Amino acid sequence: MALSVPKVHPLPPILAEWTDRSGDYFDRVQKTEPEYLVWSRFPVKVYVQPADQWSQTWVTLMTQAVNEWKAYFPLELVDRRDSADIRIDRASIPLRFPPVERVRFADVRFELYEQDAILQHRMIIRVQPNRPDLSMLAAARHELGHALGIWGHSSLETDVMYFSQVRTPPLISARDVNTLKRVYEQPTRLGW
Ligand SMILES: [Zn+2]
Repeated sequence: MALSVPKVHPLPPILAEWTDRSGDYFDRVQKTEPEYLVWSRFPVKVYVQPADQWSQTWVTLMTQAVNEWKAYFPLELVDRRDSADIRIDRASIPLRFPPVERVRFADVRFELYEQDAILQHRMIIRVQPNRPDLSMLAAARHELGHALGIWGHSSLETDVMYFSQVRTPPLISARDVNTLKRVYEQPTRLGW
């Protein structure tokens, strides 16, 4: 796969207008092979695996997490898994040691592919069903933060991207959005 020189994309509209001075944790966001994991075609398409007879609650919670991020970032729910940028699947997750994510029942990974000579990525989120509602919602919110480009963890438990599970999961914080905005100001090889 040909890697081009990293360049900065224009900010998505909502982030472009966002201003806040409560700080961020951008220094904890990791670069990857294509550098920062920035989306450049909006709205970003999100697929939530449809419900079977046992999982309507799971679908409702995943959709709620998508809608919460939508206040800050252009997202669109789509029905087709193969055309989605972000996929949220219902799956059991094998135990790993050391654990790769803050909870054992959710994770996210990215895949790179090339389309029309442009380097693209897709994100695959897995959230295990049959957990307490608040835990599933918090997990979806957190994994979506990674999928949007926050490839790292906050050290404050009032941020969605805090590295550990907390008793009362926070809503998306100004610091989460500040960090996301800084990610989108960085160069990337994706989308060029
Ligand atoms: Zn995480």
